[in-house]
Amino acid sequence: MSDKSVQKLVIVGGGTAGWICAAAFARLMGKALSIELVESDAIGTVGVGEATIPQIIRLNTILGLDEREFVKATNGTFKLGIEFVDWGKVGSKYLHTFGDPGLSLAGVPFHQYWSRAAAEGHEHDLWHYSLHQYAADTAKFGKLDRVGDTAMTGLAYAYHFDASLYADYLRAYSKQRGVTRTEGIVSEVARDAESGDITSITLGDGRKVAGDFFIDCTGFRALLLGKELGVGYKDWSHWLPCNSAQAVPSERLKTVVPYTRATAKSAGWQWRIPLQHRTGNGHVYSSNFISDDEAGQVLLEGLDTKPLTEPRPIRFTTGRREAFWSHNCAAIGLASGFLEPLESTSIHLIQSHVSRLIQLFPGNNNARAERNEYNRRCAAEFEQIRDFLILHYHCTTREDSEFWCYCKNMNVPDSVTNKMELFGSSGRVGRDADDLFRVASWVQVMLGQGIMPQSYDPMANQLSDAELAEFLGNVRRLIERATDPLPTHEQFLAQ
Ligand code: FAD
Repeated sequence: MSDKSVQKLVIVGGGTAGWICAAAFARLMGKALSIELVESDAIGTVGVGEATIPQIIRLNTILGLDEREFVKATNGTFKLGIEFVDWGKVGSKYLHTFGDPGLSLAGVPFHQYWSRAAAEGHEHDLWHYSLHQYAADTAKFGKLDRVGDTAMTGLAYAYHFDASLYADYLRAYSKQRGVTRTEGIVSEVARDAESGDITSITLGDGRKVAGDFFIDCTGFRALLLGKELGVGYKDWSHWLPCNSAQAVPSERLKTVVPYTRATAKSAGWQWRIPLQHRTGNGHVYSSNFISDDEAGQVLLEGLDTKPLTEPRPIRFTTGRREAFWSHNCAAIGLASGFLEPLESTSIHLIQSHVSRLIQLFPGNNNARAERNEYNRRCAAEFEQIRDFLILHYHCTTREDSEFWCYCKNMNVPDSVTNKMELFGSSGRVGRDADDLFRVASWVQVMLGQGIMPQSYDPMANQLSDAELAEFLGNVRRLIERATDPLPTHEQFLAQ
């Protein structure tokens, strides 16, 4: 990299990643930078990516979006979590909610009190004390910051939306804020002979787009960081063996429920994302264990409503780039790596990478320290999410197909084994401080997948038996009292 100041930013790719980058840079650095986005209508976008996690609300706040207008424009719905069906064993079901079940008391997480009660024969599962579960079961939704005047937090939520409407929405937002959109297919990339930095891209018709810094948002093609700069790819498919998907929209659900569903299948899993006007569905699977034809059949048989098109195939390799930023180019979105969509984390990774890149954005092209820090933090984030995903596959009693036998018996990173062992011993969660997933997320997934702690935190013995019973009863009553007056999800959307 040279000492030349960075004045022109070129974003290549206009999928969700490209337009989130454009919108965020326009909002936060629009006066300091000139921004041009190049996209190709002929190539198009991956066309999926419709479920999110609550962090997206931070992005919307930074962009200054009006929620009502945003949900309307994207045919969006609200999401309280993901329902996992048949994962730990066939017939099992649990909701990974965005909330903390129950209420922590005297610094002890609620699940430890529940665990003590369960050891003493208590009849209800942890989710009996989850505000989110109760709202999901009754298909209710509303704005609830806090439960009564207690310390119990209210309904944390995210959105489901139509991916192409979302890109349209951000495109309009970015153009209004000065981003130039150029249509065309990139056919050549020019580099500085000395530094190796990218200096310009040339489009099929000969037009040249020059820039000082480039963001590669070209999806799985990774045209700049991968192909041109030769940054390699770490393949994680031995831990996350799904490598294919087929996606199909179907008619809207009779009741538009406020959660995503992920149903385990013989060689992968199927998603169901309820939108206002249709349902998004897809089968994510490993082509080593099932043929594409069979996978398509499984998808169609698993639909709750009539399909609207033929299934569309997508191939991928789970993993990440060896580096996320090289020379004067960072890759964001699918170009930077892919963690399969089980926990809806890809759009979050885009948002998190953009905000990190803005925090570390170089004033000139001599940015070795910023680049190293960016690469270190992005790599750690990818690995933490990877571990959480592996847990869903590995922590199972299923041995009813070759795929599940493989997942159950595969070697996993020590970081995953350690977490499973600690939770299995005393219900404690050994997560990193900056892990995207909270203690409650790890607890719900480990319990939901079938790990029941052998003991509980002795601090939960602070309550007498009578106090414990009263505490659990009060928590449940508070949840019912807070949720019952809420509108249904459909009524809330209609408002
Ligand atoms: P793309 O959408 O592929 O966009 C690439 C862009 O680059 C396009 O505009 C294309 O035209 C352009 N381009 C490529 N080559 C050239 C060229 N030569 N010249 C000019 N332009 C070019 N994420 C979630 O958060 N939640 C989910 O529920 C979810 N589900 C998913 C399900 C599946 C099966 C898959 C595969 C992904 C899912 N994702 C999900 C991930 C999500 O879809 C992506 O993170 C998101 O859509 C961003 O994609 P992208 O913009 O990086 O790439």
